[in-house]
Amino acid sequence: MIQATDLSKRYGTAARPIAALDRVSFRVAPGEFAAVVGRSGSGKTTLLSLLAGLTRPSQGAVQLFGQDLATLNETALAKLRGNTIGFIFQFPSLLPTLTVLANASLPLRFAERPEPERPGALLEQVGLGERIHFFPHQLSAGESRRVAVARALVNRPGLILADEPTGDLDPETELTILNVLLEAHQQGATLLLATHNPALAGRADRLIRLESGRLKL
Ligand code: ADP
Ligand code: MG
Repeated sequence: MIQATDLSKRYGTAARPIAALDRVSFRVAPGEFAAVVGRSGSGKTTLLSLLAGLTRPSQGAVQLFGQDLATLNETALAKLRGNTIGFIFQFPSLLPTLTVLANASLPLRFAERPEPERPGALLEQVGLGERIHFFPHQLSAGESRRVAVARALVNRPGLILADEPTGDLDPETELTILNVLLEAHQQGATLLLATHNPALAGRADRLIRLESGRLKL
């Protein structure tokens, strides 16, 4: 499903490089639930964006579904993401001029097999059934986060990349989000979840530990 080989990402200048990720290699098998754990700044977000092809590595390779991302152009990457990856950003943003329902429905436009009923059903599942005609500015932070989760799952992605999807949320909202993610996982999706939360990480089949950009065994 995922194979990262010798993956590095450097920021900064040649004189003062910052190694956000330093020669990281691992595999995630189809259907696995792996948690990426590590302190703030350890490289979790960098890793997830490399895996989704949102950032290009300085060195090393990512293979997803047997395809080397380096061989894909931006159009092919966008198509791969649209059909197979559900990405939950650490700081998700909704389009301010669209309703909750329209925001959650956006990925359907790029889907090969859209399911028009699904956004409403997912919003119901995350407890926003009464809010589907609201606009983003009318939502609390936790509600916005739940819309972003619904949006990520709307195309039934085979791979879910979730970047601290429950960061700064109350325990009840956290549980709602976790349950939706676990349900998608039980239906066969591979789940890679970055988190600080030991209780959340404890639910994973496996931990991928990062420390200053390096894999810690
Ligand atoms: P985490 O998600 O674990 O908190 P990040 O992947 O966001 O960690 O960041 C890892 C390191 O890379 C940090 O030191 C951060 O400052 C640096 N970094 C991340 N993104 C950028 C960027 N776009 N430009 C420069 N440095 C960055
Ligand atoms: Mg992060």
